[in-house]
Amino acid sequence: MASIVLRNVDKIYAGGVKAVNGLNLEIRDGEFMVLVGPSGCGKSTALRMVAGLEDISGGEILIGDRVVNHLPPKDRDIAMVFQNYALYPHMTVEENLAFGLKLRKMPKAEISKRVQEAAKMLGLEQYLKRKPAALSGGQRQRVAMGRAIVREPQAFLMDEPLSNLDAKLRVSMRASLNQMHERLGVTTVYVTHDQVEAMTLGDRVCVLRDGILQQVDTPQNLFESP
Ligand code: ADP
Ligand code: ADP
Repeated sequence: MASIVLRNVDKIYAGGVKAVNGLNLEIRDGEFMVLVGPSGCGKSTALRMVAGLEDISGGEILIGDRVVNHLPPKDRDIAMVFQNYALYPHMTVEENLAFGLKLRKMPKAEISKRVQEAAKMLGLEQYLKRKPAALSGGQRQRVAMGRAIVREPQAFLMDEPLSNLDAKLRVSMRASLNQMHERLGVTTVYVTHDQVEAMTLGDRVCVLRDGILQQVDTPQNLFESP
């Protein structure tokens, strides 16, 4: 686990759009931080800069005590989940969960232990031998999350992971995410445009508008303030 610090971070896209403007934000060790705001406010860009998927135009990003400005994504010790979960269609759930660990040449017993734990936590135990095509959207998204958490990263980054799911599934996935966070306590940054998600998931919520931080506070305090 690690804190994530953004210091005066800017992003100017080619063409001159200032997507993120002087963003200062400290995400504490183990905290669940939600970035919320309307479409185009810069939340994905901010997350993608933390992930290393987008260059930063100014300022500094730290993960733990390391400045990561020029580190490629694979060296940042983070895991990501997106709206469009890309599972390997020819592999079973178990193989999908294990794949990233096999690539890292982790011992088999350790892989098996982590896969079992993740499957248990995410309610996937009875689906381990199935292929993605035989799963519901929510189950597939759980596999995508499982694949991220088995790596035991320092931080977990999610961009609208529930927005392809129907309303009922979103409710149960929110509960699963809360449980997962309670269990693992991994520093998490979660992007959504959905106020309800922000309020039910975040330890704190950061509200962005036009690339500028408007407010950052607990859901309770944000909800009570006008
Ligand atoms: P959000 O995630 O809040 O919807 P984004 O971070 O995707 O917002 O976008 C912020 C702003 O940057 C928007 O004005 C968007 O059009 C612009 N933008 C996003 N990606 C690019 C890109 N690759 N090139 C140019 N402009 C972009
Ligand atoms: P890691 O465990 O390191 O996160 P993944 O196994 O999740 O790696 O994915 C490695 C790369 O392959 C990622 O860029 C991912 O988007 C891509 N990928 C995942 N599933 C598929 C798929 N079914 N087809 C093509 N590419 C995929």
